[in-house]
Amino acid sequence: MGEFEIIARYFTRPVHRGDVLLGIGDDAAVLDIAPGHKLVVAMDTIVEGVHFLPGTSAADIGYRALAVNLSDLAAMGAKPAWMTLSVSLPEADEGWLEGFSAGLFELAQRHAVALVGGDTVRGPRVVTVQVAGWVEADGWLSRAGACPGDLLMLSGVPGEAAGGLAAMQQRLEGEAAARLQQRFLRPVPRIALGRLLRGIASAAMDVSDGVLADLRKLCAASACAAYVDVDALPRSTALETLFPPDACLRHALAGGDDYELLFTVPASRLAALEAALAAVPAAAASSAGETLPQVRRIGVMCAGQGVQCLRQGQPFELPSSGDQRRQDDRPQGGYDHFAAP
Ligand SMILES: [Mg+2]
Repeated sequence: MGEFEIIARYFTRPVHRGDVLLGIGDDAAVLDIAPGHKLVVAMDTIVEGVHFLPGTSAADIGYRALAVNLSDLAAMGAKPAWMTLSVSLPEADEGWLEGFSAGLFELAQRHAVALVGGDTVRGPRVVTVQVAGWVEADGWLSRAGACPGDLLMLSGVPGEAAGGLAAMQQRLEGEAAARLQQRFLRPVPRIALGRLLRGIASAAMDVSDGVLADLRKLCAASACAAYVDVDALPRSTALETLFPPDACLRHALAGGDDYELLFTVPASRLAALEAALAAVPAAAASSAGETLPQVRRIGVMCAGQGVQCLRQGQPFELPSSGDQRRQDDRPQGGYDHFAAP
């Protein structure tokens, strides 16, 4: 099967967007952006053996390749619209392509994202997805903008995805393991929450490397510091069923891959946040079947730099992992592909 047949068979779907003036099939795509809006673009590459375990289903890889990109758009308060895709494969494996495209388009259709171009080449198994979307001209979110005194908020339950990865690596079975694995393999991009935070959050980012590692990046971008109240972190029954308390805490604070939103809100806008969250369920149910995650206050921003954890009001250091370092262990700085081993 040749490149053009692969594209025709697996990656050409009807496009139902009026803003795609030219899609797949020409030399490039031509897209329309409404006046008063800005283009928001993100890209992520996943490599077999680095980003997914051998044996991960092609459908999960397809889903996840798009989900992590949509999560970046969610962090900007943007609405996704289009994607391009580059796939490198050792061979034209039809079973793999079928699964991959099914997983990819399952999520794409949920968010009405149109595939408007791409490339297929022979090589090691590597997938790159680029997503683009738009946000109102004065409404985008960024990591910069948090101020001392702002409340630090987190969506969802941190650590479940890292627990899912650990459960897969340790071949754990049962209901709790299955739930956590799902959280790792099928993260839910928080598009509806990101849209809702426009005009409310002072800074936002998505959690890919772990709460503490990503919070350090937000603090650096905003030129301030943060306290994290460890007792305020949402707890996961599934995580606590499978792992001892220290490991649960490590997953929650230093695990990655949750793709939840970490954001700051000036105290004066807390009531607006609560009102917006309360107003959403009915509307969210219609948009991409996406229910809003729970949102918790987990700390506060302050002057200075860096991140300090508190437990019962006292400074607290995350105990380091006793087991051998995994490639995926991210105790301090988050995962860095080019860090010395
Ligand atoms: Mg991100």
